[in-house]
Amino acid sequence: MGFDDIKKAVGEGASAACKMAGDIANKTKIKFALANLQDDVDELYEKLGKLHYEAVAFGADTGARESAIINKIDSIMADMEILKAEVGTFPKRGKLCPRCGKTVPKSSSFCPFCGKEI
Ligand SMILES: [Zn+2]
Repeated sequence: MGFDDIKKAVGEGASAACKMAGDIANKTKIKFALANLQDDVDELYEKLGKLHYEAVAFGADTGARESAIINKIDSIMADMEILKAEVGTFPKRGKLCPRCGKTVPKSSSFCPFCGKEI
């Protein structure tokens, strides 16, 4: 599957006759959604940082607002985990190779990418 095929699949979107093309379009949508969610999380972190600044610098009581933001972040992160599992970007069961940092199946004793013993 080349990059041109992927571009074509994305361009054709839902009307794609081929199921494979549909899957790729879907994955692209999920990745797009993930990027949007990541933006939301970043924004929330920023808000949280400002609130915390108020709390520390001025002794403002921001506890309840901070908790609300943390809850929101947690729920977005949970959604993101589900989406990530769906596109297979992050295998649910895996460990990181200490040498190359790639995700390796939990059962392997050697990294399939660089051959390092794990
Ligand atoms: Zn490795």
